Amino acid sequence: MPEGPSLRQFHARVSPFVGHTVVRAGGSSRKLPPALLQARKLQAAQVHGKNLFLEFGPRQRAGPPAVGLCPEPRGEGADGETSGGGVSGAEDGQKWLRFHFWLFGSVRANEFSRAQGPNKRGDWKDPVPRLVLHFAHGGFLVFYNCCMVWAAHPWAGPSTDILSRGFHRGRALEALRQDKPVGFTLLDQRHFAGLGNIIKNEVLYLAGIHPLSPGSALSPSSLETLLDLVLQFGGEWLQAKQQGKRQPYRIYRRRCCPEGHPVTKQSLGPPGRLRRLTWWCPLCQPLLSRASPEPNRLL
Ligand SMILES: [Zn+2]
Repeated sequence: MPEGPSLRQFHARVSPFVGHTVVRAGGSSRKLPPALLQARKLQAAQVHGKNLFLEFGPRQRAGPPAVGLCPEPRGEGADGETSGGGVSGAEDGQKWLRFHFWLFGSVRANEFSRAQGPNKRGDWKDPVPRLVLHFAHGGFLVFYNCCMVWAAHPWAGPSTDILSRGFHRGRALEALRQDKPVGFTLLDQRHFAGLGNIIKNEVLYLAGIHPLSPGSALSPSSLETLLDLVLQFGGEWLQAKQQGKRQPYRIYRRRCCPEGHPVTKQSLGPPGRLRRLTWWCPLCQPLLSRASPEPNRLL
């Protein structure tokens, strides 16, 4: 799943298009007919956690023609879906379009994604864009594997975004201290917007914390260290992405930890909620419990 650092990269690709008007729109989106975005100016772009928000202005009646330039792909489009403000949002004054990129979504500027290999039937089929926006100055944006919903305002403030300078450390520590597995708290976007499964696995290993250890069993210094690692790892990953480098993983999808111990892999998640594949080293990350909490390292 694209995590905070990837979203920042998507934002950097979209930003040069701010101030330009959409002259043609297409794509496979059903809930949000792409034609709705034609003749609207892209006014602003923001990232909050794992969501990209694009603000569109009112339809420019004197501008480029809005109808008939790019029909919906055959067999799609007018399917009667109207839930979630998807179709009529822009007309209702909800001018921010929120993009969430699921597990494999992406944004490209002035290029389409190409097939990396044959599918199960042996065909080389390029990915189908959910949305394509062509702008008046000649460039275009392509959005893959995402859902789009109209919103009145961008959601979260910067205080929970792990890549924001306004990140609120005190509130994050309070969340981590809860009596539930720290691995679950880290993925809670209400507390750690932009933090995804890769960051979770890596920082828990670096901190020597078992994903199922409850925050209440960890010493204050361990929680501080864990939070430092979240912010440091997120920042370094973003920097690596901006430089076109890959961030090396120590535990994520590894069979052995850097110390050579065999790694355990299991799907973990709160009851009734999404489970995520989790990797940890039972030796480097011992499980703590309320009955056997960690002694405070500062004492
Ligand atoms: Zn180990």
